[in-house]
Amino acid sequence: MAELPRQTTRPRVVIVGAGFAGLRAALGLAHLPVDVTVVDRSNHHTFQPLLYQVALAVLSPADIAQPIRSILRKQANTQVLMDEVVAIDTPSRRVSLRSGAQLAYDYLVLATGATHSYFGKDEWAPLAPGLKTIEDATEIRRQVLLAFELAERQMVEQGSHPPLNFVVIGGGPTGVELAGAISDIAQLYMRHDFRHIDPSKSRVMLLEGSPRVLAAYPPDLSAKAEAALTRLGVEVHTKTQVTGIGPGWVEAAGSRIDAIVTLWAAGVQASPLGKLLGATLDRRGCVPVDRTLNPAGLPNIFVLGDLAHFEQNGHQVPGVAQPAMQMGDHVARIIAADLKGAQRPAFRYFDKGDMATIGRMAAVAKVEWPFKAHMSGFPAWITWLTVHIFFLIGFRNRLSVFAAWIWNYLTFTRGARLITGDQRLPGWPTQPAADPAADARQKERVL
Ligand SMILES: Cc1cc2nc3c(=O)[nH]c(=O)nc-3n(C[C@H](O)[C@H](O)[C@H](O)COP(=O)(O)OP(=O)(O)OC[C@H]3O[C@@H](n4cnc5c(N)ncnc54)[C@H](O)[C@@H]3O)c2cc1C
Repeated sequence: MAELPRQTTRPRVVIVGAGFAGLRAALGLAHLPVDVTVVDRSNHHTFQPLLYQVALAVLSPADIAQPIRSILRKQANTQVLMDEVVAIDTPSRRVSLRSGAQLAYDYLVLATGATHSYFGKDEWAPLAPGLKTIEDATEIRRQVLLAFELAERQMVEQGSHPPLNFVVIGGGPTGVELAGAISDIAQLYMRHDFRHIDPSKSRVMLLEGSPRVLAAYPPDLSAKAEAALTRLGVEVHTKTQVTGIGPGWVEAAGSRIDAIVTLWAAGVQASPLGKLLGATLDRRGCVPVDRTLNPAGLPNIFVLGDLAHFEQNGHQVPGVAQPAMQMGDHVARIIAADLKGAQRPAFRYFDKGDMATIGRMAAVAKVEWPFKAHMSGFPAWITWLTVHIFFLIGFRNRLSVFAAWIWNYLTFTRGARLITGDQRLPGWPTQPAADPAADARQKERVL
């Protein structure tokens, strides 16, 4: 296999994954005498906390994603390769790419994040999409919007339509955000758009196996989140384990629920790249790392973000954006220390808090810094909005997202209500026959 040629004799840093952690590591290395190669299988960095807003048609994909190449274009010591790492040879310090090329490294930074886990029921994946990438978000958007369109069409043709039941599985932040936003769409945004159906009669059900939603949050905030969801019309079912999913139904707590669209927000597992290191992994596939973010016995390899299992004060640091970004910044500091021959600084996570939104004007927030507080309702939502706009990459994105939110907030319109791709829904009882020519035309459409 071809090894990509070396440009200089400076240390080579290969960063795999340009999510929050990898990107911050790359940006932190900008002014160091190293050659950086960023490898990502996708050409864009995605701001995942706002994916649900793409999935529910508030924002467009380009509002929350930006080409990695353009983010790093001013960084003279950095090249970007769109490729996937498929093997790591730690003794010879090389990674293999799907394209067949190899990259040699002096430092390897692994930041490939996490993916959905269907707890061994992978056959559920096509019936209940999860939310991790822009592609996932546009698929969810397609399914949710298509359900209303098919209902309207069937109403015109047959005078009735199946119940518009949307089932969200998993009551963590993503499930809560999705359920709240679907309810908003049905109750507020769609209400004047259809002549034959009443979107506000849709049901949104949130199924959670544990006793409360947002189980990682303090109990008072879980209770407030559940109350806010109920006010929005979401039916919250806690202590409800899902035992089966099929086209058009979900089986939970011993009964079968009709579900025109089923969404999965119940489990995550670390990217499979951790296995390539040969290290012992935790039960979610994360790589245990020490104070300098190295797996045992591999001081020139750093594992960051959702892929890392880093413990502080006896607890694993959560798989959210802040630790990922802080780890990215820290790796750059460690490499700088190495170059100076100084001692490596130990990583310490600085927890500023967590927040989750519920619909268009409520949220819950556990604030840890600059003061400690539990917030809910509209003040928490304003805080959430400010923080998320602040962390969006690029001025254009911040401006367009802010404008889209204000516009939607005041006018009840949705800017990105586009259905692209297949016009069939796994849960719809009367599927139109597949039309290969139409399918081919759909694939050619640009988002
Ligand atoms: C829907 C959703 C909502 C969220 N909401 C919040 C929130 O509100 N607040 C919060 O703090 N956190 C939130 N999170 C979590 C947060 O987004 C993650 O913790 C964070 O993205 C982790 O960063 P990372 O750099 O480890 O991985 P990621 O950001 O996932 O980036 C991983 C990168 O690696 C690339 N990659 C993967 N495998 C390979 C490979 N083999 N070769 C090359 N490239 C590869 C991927 O393309 C991707 O670009 C949310 C996550 C999701 C999915």
